[in-house]
Amino acid sequence: MGDGVTLRDIYEARRTIASSVSRTPLVASQELTRRAGASVFLKLETVHDIGAFKIRGAVNRLMHLSEAERARGVVAVSTGNHGRAVAYAARDMGARAVVCMSNLVKENKRSAIKQLDAEVRIVGNSQDEAEAEADRLVAEQGMISVHPFDHPHVIAGQGVIGVELLEDLPAIDCLLVGLSGGGLISGIAVALKAASPDIRVIGVSMERGPAMYHSLRAGKPVAVEELETLADSLGGGIGLDNKYTFSLVSKYVDDTVLVSEREIADAMRYLYRHERLIVEGGGAVSVAALLHRRPSGIKGNVVCVLSGRNVDMDAFTHLINSTDAGTS
Ligand SMILES: *Cc1c(COP(=O)(O)O)cnc(C)c1O
Repeated sequence: MGDGVTLRDIYEARRTIASSVSRTPLVASQELTRRAGASVFLKLETVHDIGAFKIRGAVNRLMHLSEAERARGVVAVSTGNHGRAVAYAARDMGARAVVCMSNLVKENKRSAIKQLDAEVRIVGNSQDEAEAEADRLVAEQGMISVHPFDHPHVIAGQGVIGVELLEDLPAIDCLLVGLSGGGLISGIAVALKAASPDIRVIGVSMERGPAMYHSLRAGKPVAVEELETLADSLGGGIGLDNKYTFSLVSKYVDDTVLVSEREIADAMRYLYRHERLIVEGGGAVSVAALLHRRPSGIKGNVVCVLSGRNVDMDAFTHLINSTDAGTS
């Protein structure tokens, strides 16, 4: 059966999403290059319409549905970037989208998804109850469930980032990227490792609730307690019945590192002050690891993926204006 996702699938995804998803820039950072002692580049997945890379996988997944499936509508469980991505992709294709979330989700996140014309369904007081509602829509109305990471079309869509990187920086030596469910890093790693197994792929998660990190060490998917974190877009489990990303990450990812809340905050401040970029916590962990953890194998041409910018602006300005002893 193989990996479930090949380089060929990623090239196919690239053609499939080209008319809906823009190519993103890769920019050199002189300041990070100076600090890291390696040539550092930033991949700006922050510039997408929805402010995060997840649009790539969502568009690829929906484009691969049959017309009959698309007519039944799609459903996602998400409080953030995945919900936005599915809503955007569905609107793009004229499909109905329902995004299920719990009572606990704040109004600004609800309205961001409503603005993309998706139906927001608020159920219960936990993610589990929101998931039960999505399952009901699938069972009773035949809607199509769109998983945030554990699906070959989603992984291949995120993998288009890897193909773009190889074109812009063929001599890439090392990649740092945020790691949660692992769709993002799996797709990129399939592309980079096909070009050269020597390209080092490093996943970065937060200390507070890193599900893939613990699963890799346990040798199988394990549940972890979800904790509040600045990197909220990296929260949640990998699924105890994980089908694709656990084995792809096991096979292709060379190292996984954790960063603290303080290091994430410091990276967000650094990116704002020195690079003039607004990056959410989950999007800044790659830079947090580079600045504070110095993972082994950082040499030559290093890419940090900045995976999203969807941060509450009041919280962000507060964080930017607060001074914490750090390197920023
Ligand atoms: C979802 C997300 C990630 C992690 O992607 P996975 O495929 O779940 O590993 C990283 N950064 C941001 C901003 C995200 O929204």
